Amino acid sequence: MGAKCQSCGMPLNKDPSKGGTEADGSISQTYCSFCYRDGAFIHPDFTVAEMQEHCLVQLRERGMPAIMAWVFTRGIPKLGRWTA
Ligand SMILES: [Zn+2]
Repeated sequence: MGAKCQSCGMPLNKDPSKGGTEADGSISQTYCSFCYRDGAFIHPDFTVAEMQEHCLVQLRERGMPAIMAWVFTRGIPKLGRWTA
C-alpha cells in the first residue's frame, strides 16, 4: 500500500507524527494522526462528503490554493476507508 492515509489521502511522510496510533501504541501504516488515534477513527461518524469538506477546510487553512485543495479531495472516495 502506498504511504498515504487511507481516510483523508494525506501522505504519511507529511504527517508530523508519521501516522496514527494503534490501540497498542504502535504507529499505523494505514491512517494519519489526524484521522486515527489509539486504534479508532477520530471522526467515526464522518461520511465521505463530510471528510472531503473537512479536508478542504484544513488544506485551505494551510494555504493550499482552492483549486488544488478541491482536486486533492476528489480522490478521497477511492481510499480504503471508503471503499471497504
Ligand atoms: Zn488521514
